[in-house]
Order: sequence, then C-alpha cells, then structure tokens
Amino acid sequence: MNIYRFLVLSIILFCCNSTLASAEDFSVEPSEVLKTLDKSHPRLMLKDKDLERLKKLYTKDKVLQKCLKDVLKDADACAKKRMLTYRKIGPRLLSVSRECLHRIYALGLAYRWTGEQKYAEKAKENLLTVCAFKDWNPSHFLDTAEMSHAVGLGYVWLYSYLDIETREKIRAGLVKNGFEPALSAYKKSWWSKSEHNWNQVCNGGMIVGALAIAQSEPGYAEQIIISAIESLPRALKSYSPDGAWMEGPGYWSYATHYTAYGLTALQTALGTDFGLLQIEGLAESGSFPIYTAGPRGLYLNFADCGGRSSRRPMPCMFWLARTYDNSLYAEAEHAEIAKSDARAQHVVWYVPAPVTMPAAKELDRYFRGPVEIAVFRSAWNDPEALFVGVKAGYNQVNHGHLDLGSFELDALGIRWVRDLGSDNYNLPGYWDKRRGGRRWSYYRLNSKSHSVPLLNGEDQDPLAISKFTRFQTERSSAFVLVDLTSAYKNSANKVTRGVAMVENRRAVLVQDEFDIEKTCELIWAMTTDAKIDIKEKDTAVLTLGGRKLIARILSPSVAGFTVESAQQKPPQKTNRGVRRLIVRLPNARGNVRVAILLLPVWKAREVVTKVQVKPLAQW
Ligand SMILES: [Zn+2]
Repeated sequence: MNIYRFLVLSIILFCCNSTLASAEDFSVEPSEVLKTLDKSHPRLMLKDKDLERLKKLYTKDKVLQKCLKDVLKDADACAKKRMLTYRKIGPRLLSVSRECLHRIYALGLAYRWTGEQKYAEKAKENLLTVCAFKDWNPSHFLDTAEMSHAVGLGYVWLYSYLDIETREKIRAGLVKNGFEPALSAYKKSWWSKSEHNWNQVCNGGMIVGALAIAQSEPGYAEQIIISAIESLPRALKSYSPDGAWMEGPGYWSYATHYTAYGLTALQTALGTDFGLLQIEGLAESGSFPIYTAGPRGLYLNFADCGGRSSRRPMPCMFWLARTYDNSLYAEAEHAEIAKSDARAQHVVWYVPAPVTMPAAKELDRYFRGPVEIAVFRSAWNDPEALFVGVKAGYNQVNHGHLDLGSFELDALGIRWVRDLGSDNYNLPGYWDKRRGGRRWSYYRLNSKSHSVPLLNGEDQDPLAISKFTRFQTERSSAFVLVDLTSAYKNSANKVTRGVAMVENRRAVLVQDEFDIEKTCELIWAMTTDAKIDIKEKDTAVLTLGGRKLIARILSPSVAGFTVESAQQKPPQKTNRGVRRLIVRLPNARGNVRVAILLLPVWKAREVVTKVQVKPLAQW
C-alpha cells in the first residue's frame, strides 16, 4: 500500500471511529431527554436553593461579599446604558449578543440578590428589545447562540417578574430568532461537526435557550438538546489528553466558558450531564491558562490570541474547580479576582478559597494533543522569573498561524520575544487558510512575523504537522525538541529545533539544526519590542523597560546579527516599533547549526559566559 492510500484509509478509519464514539457514548433517546426536566423556575444555572446557600455563605465569606459588590456596581452601570440596537460589525452581530448576555447576567443576578425591581425592569427592556430584532444573524451562528443564551437565561431568572404577555413575546423571539435557525443549522451547518470553539459556543448557547422554555416548546427543546449532546463530544475531545486548547489561551476561555454554560444548564434543568464531564482532558483543562501565562500574566498567545492577551478573571475556572474538586483552579481564580472585578458568573459558580493549599506547581509543563505546547520557568510567584514557551502542532488548526516551533520569552518582568497576535478578522481572505490562501499573505499570520526559521524567504507549509520528539524537565536542565521537517520540505531534508533553559534556569538556548541539500538562504529570527544594539557582530543588546537582555550567536561562528523592522502598512495592523533580530546565512548548505543564547541581565549582574553547544541528538 502506498503512503497516500495508507493515509486516506487512516483518515477514514479515524473518522468512523470518532463518529462511532460520539454516537454510541452520547446518544440520547428522544422520548427520554426531557423526562427529568425541572418544571419550576428559575431552573437554569443558579436555582433558588443555591442562591439561598450563597446568601448564607455571604455573611461570613469576604471574597463573596467583594464579588457581589462588583456585580452590583456592574449592574448599576448596565442599568444606565443606552438600549441595544441591531448593529453589525462586518458580518457579525456578536458584540451586541455579548453585551446583551453581560447585561442579563449582571442585572438578573442583581435583581435576584437584592429584589430591587429597577434591575429586573432594565433586564426586561433589554430582552424585549433583542426579541424584536429582525434576526440574531444566523449566518454567523455564534451571534444567534449567544443571544439565545442571554434571552433564555433572562426569561428563567426573571420569570416571576415578567407578565404573561412579556413572557409570550420573549418565547416567540427565542423560537423565531433562535430555535428555527438552530434546527436548520443542525441539519446543514459545519459548526455542529467542528472540533473547536464554535461547537461549544453554538451548542452551549442553544442548550440554555432550549431548556429555558422547554415546557412550552418541548418539540424544539428535544431536537436541540439531542443534537447538542451528539455534537459536543467532537469538541470536548479536543481537550484530550492534558487539557490544552489548540486555538490558544484566548479561545480556551471562550470554548471553556461555553462548555461550562452548556453543562451547567443540563445539570440544573435535567439533573444530568449525559456523561460529558467524563471526557478525557476536560478535568485537566484548568491547568492550561495557569501554565501558559508568563510571570506577569501575559499568555503564550499563539493562534489568533490578542497581541497583549493576558490572564484575567475567568468564572469558568470556578466551574472547573467545583466540578472537579480542584483547589489549584480555585486558588488561581481567587488570585485573579483579588486584583480585578468579579463577574456575575463568578457568583453563579462560586467556590470559597481553598483551606488547604494545592500541591506546588511544576516549573515545566508539556501539554500533549493535536497542538503541543511546552512551557518552562525559573520560578512561580516571581514576576521577574524566566519563562519560555514553545509550540508544535499543525498549521491548519482553526485560528492557526504559520508558527510551528515559534517561541516566546519573558524575563525581568518584560516580554522579550513575542507573538504579534491576531490581525483584523474582516481583512479579505482572512479565513482562507489553504496552501496559497490569502490568510498567509498577512504578516501577523504567516511565518515572517514569527520566531521561526525562514528558508529561501518562504513561509512554512500551511499543511505542515510537527511534533515534539523529546521533553525533559529537570531542575538544572529542561528542554524540548521539535521536528519541523514537514514545515520546510521545499528546502531542507530535516529541520529540528531545540529550546532549553540553561545555566540553572538563568538563560535560554535556541538551537536549530538543518540538513540542506541545495544551497539556500537561511534566516533565524525573533520578534521583539526591544531596542536592539549590535555590539559586536555576534552580540546584540536588547533594551526594554529599563532592563536588558543579551543575544549571542554561539553557532555558526561566521554569522552576525542584523535588525529589521516588523512594521506593516494598513489595513494590516502596523506593529509600530516592533523589530526583528535576524541572523542571515545567505548560502546555507549541508548540516547547518544555528545556536542563539538569550541572556537576561539579572540584577546581580552575574554574566553567563559560556554555554557549550552540543548536537541536539546529544541533548
Ligand atoms: Zn502568531
């Protein structure tokens, strides 16, 4: 059998297997699905008995008191806002749906906590306004799902406040703008078969909407819940095996919040999660935002994560903490809400601060999966610590960039090596990720902006797949090796990158090895906000925020540094002031090794003088 036939057969078998798994493990009998429905209101997310439990806890839990203060402040601000209007940005109504959801949670919880009608009245106005919209933009279904979530939740939480006529109007809006398009979407849209954030957001939003009015609309509710239970495992399996999210930390948050909404709605209204909570990786997934945040909270922001995206309060961490009884997640989220405002969903999923401290976190972590991540640090709880993260995986991943092997580095409280993040989603062809697709003409998305090698100036192959081949974590030495060969097939027989913490975790070594048959131009590059001074040809001094980092070429001895600008012209983001530190080898051939040492200048000014270069095979 030739390799291509083998691959096709493997893909068919894989698809059959995954279909079987989702159909068999998570199928639901239509006649059974609503049998356990709680007929009382509010049946979703936070029941009255849970509210009472929280009110008791409130009398003695200072953090919960602070959360409520934050929510009431937010609700007061929401009450003063202008009424929502139907306004699309590009093809999306999403910002309106999200704003509606934000208001309904804040106003709804404020009303239920205080009993003050001003909050309920404002929430009702918002609900009636969006239910009178001509549609919830089903062509971009996230917008429909998030709005269905907002409206379903508002209906349930305010049920006793709403008069019969208002209830009817809201139900009619939910059916027309939410359920009708959902039923046709489950038949023919791509997202119900997708393995990424769209799956959880669309299913999670529709579950909340469907269960909100399941008594008066059992036909719709049944079909939506059955379809969602069948669809969700496809995406939940993407957390496997270690909880990483292939679309980066930003989309981890979006996908995991909607996992939490959907599953909480099922549990509260039906008393079951249909076994979805047991899917491998979900219980571990709270580790992902913890470990992929650097010492100052900046994420390893691969995929279309924002350029400065950082750890922020995320209520789904409380949901994970209480669902899986995990004190690490609880502790991490308590640390976040101590610094920033809590949201209504923090109260819904509230867990008190853990009494016993969780086990100490590891310095290094390897997340396996379709996109692999390795992160290393010199210490926890030290904002000046050294941190480096590397990614592997496949370039076709949703929201992916051509960035296999790319790394980011923090030290001394500064991000020295960065990913520029996403560009404007409305740029023409932004989603055309085929080989030759327009997505790859955009600087922030292609290889030329990433801290990866460039051979003959070409981007990595958009169809490339890469794997870590070794990961080691020891106190004095920690490293990862990634096989990048498939990304550079046009120009090299083999490409391997090693990234290591060296010198007792005071410096980072990035070492690339190439086997090149036909002479080509080889560029080693990293992207930085720092000012760069080339002192000698093999030594560059980077300065940022009053701190310094030295880059030194250990191999090859003939090479020298140069600097280029990362600036681009609109309509792309311009990346003002961003630079690229470059090593250019115009005639690379045979076995070539590029080894660059990155040395933060620590306060004690101890200078790491010599790091021995060993072949990656001997690491
Ligand atoms: Zn990127």
